[in-house]
Amino acid sequence: MTDKNTTGVPERTRPDPVGLDRIRVVLVGTTHAGNIGSAARAMKTMGLSRLVLVAPRARITAEALSMASNALDVLDAVREVADLDAALAGCRWVVGASARLRDAPHELMTFRQAAEHAGGELAQGEGDVALVFGREHAGLTNAELGRCHAHMMIPANPEYSSLNLAQAVQVAAYELRQAFLAEDGGLPAAVDQPAPATHDAVENLLTHWQATLEGLGFLDPANPRHLMQKLRGLLQRGRVTPNEVDILRGMLTAVQRKAGLPRAGERDE
Ligand code: SAH
Repeated sequence: MTDKNTTGVPERTRPDPVGLDRIRVVLVGTTHAGNIGSAARAMKTMGLSRLVLVAPRARITAEALSMASNALDVLDAVREVADLDAALAGCRWVVGASARLRDAPHELMTFRQAAEHAGGELAQGEGDVALVFGREHAGLTNAELGRCHAHMMIPANPEYSSLNLAQAVQVAAYELRQAFLAEDGGLPAAVDQPAPATHDAVENLLTHWQATLEGLGFLDPANPRHLMQKLRGLLQRGRVTPNEVDILRGMLTAVQRKAGLPRAGERDE
């Protein structure tokens, strides 16, 4: 830290907004190294630092480093995971970015609305927020979007609506920063509400639920008819709490016991 401003740029008059360190930017299956670097730069300019790569198809090459410019610290801290669930563990709210309308039962929002919602989520208590971006050529799969609570879209030119991946990250990061700055440089004090169950807790419940329904013969694994995605949607809309997850899992264990089913899907942690 220097105490002299030699840049010619006005000094910040207020502290950097708090909460941005609880935002994860998740890139799924990225194929161009340059986009990883550009995304890191886009993030750092807006005060974001947590980049997660899900099964990337590109490495952090010299091109990535060059596009990152002075955001090498974001690349140094990058987390690489094998699947989307691992990237979302510990998240209370997840929004997926897609240029295309899907027929999924998702709440559809603009990037600005998503940024405002993210601020509200963080203010309510523990857990991170994740923004999920898709592959350059194919976007996110419906199953991946299904893991998200909401779907955000830039209402771009309908004839050419697909932005470059890192540019989409830039727009999201910009909107987050503006939304967080509008909170007067800080988030409102946390409200004493139970935090919703995290992504991983909900997924473990769904695994347990599926095993039980298969054991009962209610769900045919050969013909699942999107049942689990519908149940996931129900849990997401309900914003179930950890205590409610425990109750539901206790019920499933009781059903398995009474029906003489193997304890498949039961909590093993
Ligand atoms: N061809 C892909 C688009 C990939 S662009 C498709 O048709 O889905 C790479 C990623 O940038 C997308 O998966 C999405 O996360 C984000 N993105 C690009 N344009 C967007 C837009 N208009 N609205 C929301 N997200 C967008």
